[in-house]
Amino acid sequence: MATNHAITIERFPEGVPEESNFGRAERPMPEPADDELLVRNVYLSLDPFLRGIISGRQIYATPLSPGDTMPGNTVSQVVQSRADGFKAGDYVQVSGGWQQFAAVTAADARRVDPGAAPLSTAVGVLGMPGLTAYAGLLRLADPQAGETVLVSAAAGPVGSTVGQIAKIRGARAVGIAGSDEKCRLVSEHFGFDACINYKTEDLREAITAHCPDGVNVYFDNVGGTTLEAAIANLAIGARVTLCGLISQYNEKVTPPGPNLGPVIGKRAILKGFVVYDHYDLFDRFQSDCQGWLREGRLRILEDRAEGLDAAPAAFCRLMRGENVGKALVVVAPEQA
Ligand code: NDP
Repeated sequence: MATNHAITIERFPEGVPEESNFGRAERPMPEPADDELLVRNVYLSLDPFLRGIISGRQIYATPLSPGDTMPGNTVSQVVQSRADGFKAGDYVQVSGGWQQFAAVTAADARRVDPGAAPLSTAVGVLGMPGLTAYAGLLRLADPQAGETVLVSAAAGPVGSTVGQIAKIRGARAVGIAGSDEKCRLVSEHFGFDACINYKTEDLREAITAHCPDGVNVYFDNVGGTTLEAAIANLAIGARVTLCGLISQYNEKVTPPGPNLGPVIGKRAILKGFVVYDHYDLFDRFQSDCQGWLREGRLRILEDRAEGLDAAPAAFCRLMRGENVGKALVVVAPEQA
């Protein structure tokens, strides 16, 4: 009887995964049910999100147990169809897993035209990573001609696509990658204007050198110190797409510093604010707040210190967080 060779997760990794975390299994050939397809996997996509799945942290996937077949996106060919609209020989993009064959729900299959582009691109630039780059850059950050777009993990499918779309938009593209060889590819193969090797260069200084007018768009695939260095170089009005945190995926404990993971999960937008940009609202603000104060709808609390000499201590209390309410010094009495 034909069997289906599969790779399983045997032990959840601590830190960087090792081969010994995985196992092998011979399983019976899957039997497609109604509305399912039996597929032969042709290309298996290895994506960083899998690291989250085998740590139990991925919130978009069914948790795994030891012995389960590793999940993964695949480009696959239909062997047998029990669903309308598909026939043997068709190519589809499905979640076929780390195995030779899979029975998959036809409704979850995306048809792939093998004549349109190399088949493997269906899990790359024309698949989920490509869409990530396209939507994360154009919809969230909207780069303009002449602006500078900085992207980390620039040699990978998401990062390389981000930089190339930025160039198509007329922006400058600067990549960050982890070796000279990757940087050469980022510049020469993907056509970025520059690429910084974060393992050999002072990243913050190198970003300043390559983005002298600041970073208009930062597309972050990495998090941690790379995100920090990019943020230190933002131009006024910059947009930052928080896409991935791969520098942390192997860590059991979230590193100190702002943990921006929930910002990704909650699709939140972080936007910088400087009050000096908003003085056009001043008259409206005065009128509204004066009215609310008069009506008792706006209340105040003051932490008053008496006399100018009390100012230093009062300021120190403020900076120790001991003020309760608006800290101020009464320097002289009010006069009628
Ligand atoms: P990549 O091929 O770019 O990911 C692997 C690369 O990440 C490595 O080659 C390495 O490149 C970099 N990397 C690995 N470990 C570290 C580390 N400790 N510190 C810094 N960089 C590291 O994969 P993708 O292009 O598919 O994904 C890129 C990012 O996008 C990932 O974070 C992924 O999770 C995220 N993503 C998010 C999605 C979303 O919906 N938010 C969807 C799809 C992807 P280098 O040598 O340059 O460091």
